[in-house]
Amino acid sequence: MYNVAYVHEDKCVADKGCRLCVMYCPEADCIHIDFSNKKALVITERCKGCVLCEVVCSTHKAITMHPVNGATGEIILGGEAGEAAGLGQAYAG
Ligand code: SF4
Ligand code: SF4
Repeated sequence: MYNVAYVHEDKCVADKGCRLCVMYCPEADCIHIDFSNKKALVITERCKGCVLCEVVCSTHKAITMHPVNGATGEIILGGEAGEAAGLGQAYAG
């Protein structure tokens, strides 16, 4: 299990012109603007979990990191639970 970025559409202001995460993500074709709703969209399979997008979105806090099931590609959301799992990963060595 590893962490990937997840966009909280209710907080994302891409519809107001923000493109910070798209500009700073080092992985090609990893974050797009979804033109159906004008919000940022992470392509989970391409995300390397570097956390840069979460850092550059610190004003709006629209991106958080969450564990993903490598077998199914399913992101395991759940606020504190996701963060706790992330910490657990770090300490698992
Ligand atoms: S940096 Fe944050 S607010 Fe800006 S487009 Fe990306 S997710 Fe949305
Ligand atoms: S965590 Fe890194 S690789 Fe993943 S979407 Fe954010 S900036 Fe891109």
